[in-house]
Amino acid sequence: DSTITDIDNISKSMEEFVEGKRLEIKSLTERDSFRRDFLGNVAHELKTPLFTVQGYILTLMEGAINDKQIRMKYLDRANKGVERLVAVIKDLDMIAKLETESLKLNIEVFNILELIQNVFDLFEMKAKKRNISLKFDRIYEFPVFVKADVEKIEQVLINLVVNSIKYGKPNGTTIVGVESYNDKKFIVKVIDNGEGIQKQHLSRLFERFYRVDQSRSREQGGSGLGLSIVKHILEAHDENILLKSTYGEGSEFSFTVEKAK
Ligand code: ADP
Repeated sequence: DSTITDIDNISKSMEEFVEGKRLEIKSLTERDSFRRDFLGNVAHELKTPLFTVQGYILTLMEGAINDKQIRMKYLDRANKGVERLVAVIKDLDMIAKLETESLKLNIEVFNILELIQNVFDLFEMKAKKRNISLKFDRIYEFPVFVKADVEKIEQVLINLVVNSIKYGKPNGTTIVGVESYNDKKFIVKVIDNGEGIQKQHLSRLFERFYRVDQSRSREQGGSGLGLSIVKHILEAHDENILLKSTYGEGSEFSFTVEKAK
């Protein structure tokens, strides 16, 4: 911690002496505090499930292991903690990769309708468990060819569809549809009739680790990084993301994608 304070002090005193460079130094200080916040968040995200796992292991070692029912319950909870850790680490790994490879998009032409169907197949079970139905709003019955990095767009779809399931109301519906946006772009919409998002959160939702409700997100197994990954991928593609939401009624996350000629 002391090194961090030192860096702050050095930046401040340099600011006083080097008048012309004031702005540059300020942005360095800002970056520094951004990095510090990020590291703090990462440590927190890892610490919480790790302590949970440790707690269950210690209790088992202290004797709970002898009771068959308690043993299974605690092992199951410890395993859930490990699953959370794996999810956070996977998402961090993806962000690190996106930052270093952001210019290396593998652009190809593919049928977006097929990609949506694949994502539905992957998450049908997860949706069923929460009693949510996934609906494909097919206004096009033929292949809809787009030009983008297919794996990364699949990741965007996965994150949005999974969120619609996690924050959807039981017995709710997620609708995914594709429409023409303009001459050059299609727009893909992921619409849910779930809990919705209050206005004051909308502008911060795509920040790393920002969550409306910490415990609700954790209970759903979220890393808090899903939407920041979505934003990263779409920015790298030079595409837009739009969000409409009414608290208590539902949300619509949509993004543009280039039409293949
Ligand atoms: P998380 O892992 O917490 O789901 P995300 O970055 O994917 O992280 O989302 C950030 C937050 O945005 C979530 O914690 C949740 O509060 C809110 N959110 C995301 N998608 C939806 C949705 N479809 N409906 C309501 N809230 C949502």
